[in-house]
Amino acid sequence: MSEQSQQQLGFDTLAIHAGNGADPRTGAVVPPIYQVSTYKQDGVGGLRGGYEYSRSANPTRTALEENLAALEAGRRGLAFASGLAAEDALLRTVCKPGDHVLLPGDAYGGTFRLVSKVVAGWGVEWDAVDMADLDAVRASIRPNTRVLWVETPSNPLLGIADIAALASVARESGALLVVDNTFASPYLQQPLVLGADVVVHSTTKYMGGHSDVVGGGLVAADPELGERLAFHQNAMGAVAGPFDSWLVLRGIKTLGVRMDRHCANAERIAHYLAEHPRVTAVHYPGLPEHPGHEVAVKQMRAFGGMVSFRVAGGEEAAVAVCDRAKLFTLGESLGGVESLIEHPGRMTHASAAGSPLEVPADLVRLSVGIESVDDLLADLTQALG
Ligand SMILES: *Cc1c(COP(=O)(O)O)cnc(C)c1O
Repeated sequence: MSEQSQQQLGFDTLAIHAGNGADPRTGAVVPPIYQVSTYKQDGVGGLRGGYEYSRSANPTRTALEENLAALEAGRRGLAFASGLAAEDALLRTVCKPGDHVLLPGDAYGGTFRLVSKVVAGWGVEWDAVDMADLDAVRASIRPNTRVLWVETPSNPLLGIADIAALASVARESGALLVVDNTFASPYLQQPLVLGADVVVHSTTKYMGGHSDVVGGGLVAADPELGERLAFHQNAMGAVAGPFDSWLVLRGIKTLGVRMDRHCANAERIAHYLAEHPRVTAVHYPGLPEHPGHEVAVKQMRAFGGMVSFRVAGGEEAAVAVCDRAKLFTLGESLGGVESLIEHPGRMTHASAAGSPLEVPADLVRLSVGIESVDDLLADLTQALG
């Protein structure tokens, strides 16, 4: 499909068709898993179809990369072995020693660790700021700020940042706006359309959607930056393998229908929790009292499948809710069809204790799946006791 013909198609059509043309050899309607490392050349340097070695490019990965670019309305998509591999390639492409990265105060723990423990050791400076507070963001920008990193909704408190407003701040200061779109997925929000420069994905989560693959992606708005990222993807080598690319591509075909159900179930659950006597706070951008609700309405199609809440009785009570849940599986990660529950303080965010990313001890996080919502509500009712 040409980029021009793609522009007229709806999201779900693109999710199913972009990058997914019939296999030229057999007509197979699903891209085959090209489990191959190297390609026969017709004479020295005579490449058939442009492939020479699968770190540089592989047809199954190309299918996924074209699909990612189409769904995010970008010019270049790249697929990696994990979300963090994608982040690492991005940071090492755009930053050099002496540059400054502005992170959200509630960044994904792995992003915080990558920047503060790995990239910082290499001479890149960083600060964390509340991305919902535009004045604080402006005040934290320095002449050497190269990257403004945003996650919205954020993890685990579901904070909302205004992507369009941050894009103008980034543009004014000559920094790149990077949006980690893992929690929303492009079905709910397209940061590049709102002015961001690069979108980051952990395709492990909603894009893959079935808790069966670890993967990452980058999509660049500018083809020249896309080209530099592709150079680094090949030079560093943390690419997505053919089978993993195939799994993510398969998951993406149902992204829209899955997200509709994730959102509908999460909305019911958020309203239920808001009325529950043992729940002291509910964090869900779809609730009118959420401080980011207005911005979420402006930039998102719906409010996502992640909900977190605080339990009366403190840490022990929150841990007990997690332990009593049966249908909600106790586990880390998110975005799969099955519902998950976890205690961020002791699980996903344990390493953040004492840092700016520390989370309340009485917090419980849900990744609401696509099961029958009445069964999910019944499980929460018994777990809350
Ligand atoms: C999981 C996650 C990542 C990291 O992705 P991996 O695939 O686990 O490497 C980055 N950002 C967010 C928001 C995530 O949820």
